[in-house]
Amino acid sequence: EDYLTRLRDRETHVQSFLHVSETAMEEAKLLDDKLAQKARIGPLAGVPIAVKDNLCTKDMPSTGGSKILEGYRPPYDATAVRKLRETGAVIIGKTNMDEFGMGSTTEGSAYKVTANPWDTTRVPGGSSGGSAAAVAAKQCAGALGSDTGGSIRQPASFCGVVGLKPTYGRVSRSGLMAYASSLDVVGCFGSSVEDVAILFQSVAGHDSADSTSSSKDVPSFAETFTPVDKLNSKPLVGVKFGLIKETLGEGVDSSVVSAVQSAAKHLENLGAEVIEVELPKFSLGLPAYYVLAASEASSNLSRYDGARYGRREDAQELVTMYGKSRDMGLGSEVKRRILMGTYALSAGYYDAYYKRAQQVRRLIQTDLEDVLQRVDILLSPVAPTPAYKIGEKADDPLAMYAGDLMTVNVNLAGLPALVVPCGVAEGGQFGLPVGLQMVGKSFDEATLLHSGHIFE
Ligand code: GLN
Repeated sequence: EDYLTRLRDRETHVQSFLHVSETAMEEAKLLDDKLAQKARIGPLAGVPIAVKDNLCTKDMPSTGGSKILEGYRPPYDATAVRKLRETGAVIIGKTNMDEFGMGSTTEGSAYKVTANPWDTTRVPGGSSGGSAAAVAAKQCAGALGSDTGGSIRQPASFCGVVGLKPTYGRVSRSGLMAYASSLDVVGCFGSSVEDVAILFQSVAGHDSADSTSSSKDVPSFAETFTPVDKLNSKPLVGVKFGLIKETLGEGVDSSVVSAVQSAAKHLENLGAEVIEVELPKFSLGLPAYYVLAASEASSNLSRYDGARYGRREDAQELVTMYGKSRDMGLGSEVKRRILMGTYALSAGYYDAYYKRAQQVRRLIQTDLEDVLQRVDILLSPVAPTPAYKIGEKADDPLAMYAGDLMTVNVNLAGLPALVVPCGVAEGGQFGLPVGLQMVGKSFDEATLLHSGHIFE
């Protein structure tokens, strides 16, 4: 009740939800009854969790932020959603997002613009901006998002919450609307690392409905968290961090650089070793990402043809129906990506763009894996600036893409990354949050969560 009241109150200013559950209270009451009867209830029993709108929910519309899926109600729950419900979570609503995950501000939603709860004239980040804003505004206790090139981490940083992008394959994507399948992952938001660990624990693990999901064991994350006396002990002795030099140079706000540098100092004070590492090819990741993500999107989004689900524009000819439905149903950023991707994949250009981008991807992957032989965790900012004003980059796609420089490489390499708030920059009434990105070894979310938890 408390969460629903706050959700409605704050929704006027924040606009994080596309749909609010009508049955949340009933579901919670059922769990209450179960508890009264001493029946078994899961670890998240009654906990209100919000879900990004590109994850299918059978009892609520799922539009992916797109008009082409207006009113669409999937016949099934995404595996991550089903797993949450199995642990007792109450899905409180569906959160706003850039259409099909393409964007960095949530302004690309076909339905509404979400505001950053810290300063409502600013963007919450994207594409999972609704989920991050909802957690920051305490409209829910935690949320699910998806991350193809930074969509969990950048909004977590902009909204001052914790965000986890798991290793590729760690969480099932069955029921996640595909954007770029070789990069997409489902992950979580929370107010603390412990909350995120509990959520992550509930959704991780193998799923036969997703052929890319890994069958690696999922260790217990939050249970092993022990309260530490940070002042009198050095809990991070033996953990080695590498600060990525290329992410702290030109073009990065001084407020961001100093927040990350003081976070590194703080880690040292907790006993960790922090060294500087160089990744000379770091900046090649961004163009490679945009070629690959657009190419995969152009193929994945061909399923939205007006015939199978969502909105249809009637026409005499089938091909005209496809064309009109896509023209009316898809927004301009999505069309831009489909065009770029189709171009990059076309016969005459395939070698020059797609193939070359794949080669660059391999280089980035090898570089990151090599440096992660020398350190346990890499450190960097999440984005070059804190949250900027709504509308500031809306008409400048290249400026928007450039903001993804520090996050996309992690997806190209399939690595896990945790974002924790680490400082405050000037702006707004209360200052603006700055996040620290911690990148871990493949399938080693445990080290990330433990270090993040102690750091917090
Ligand atoms: N901003 C990036 C893009 O537009 C990343 C989005 C995402 O991770 N879904 O592609």
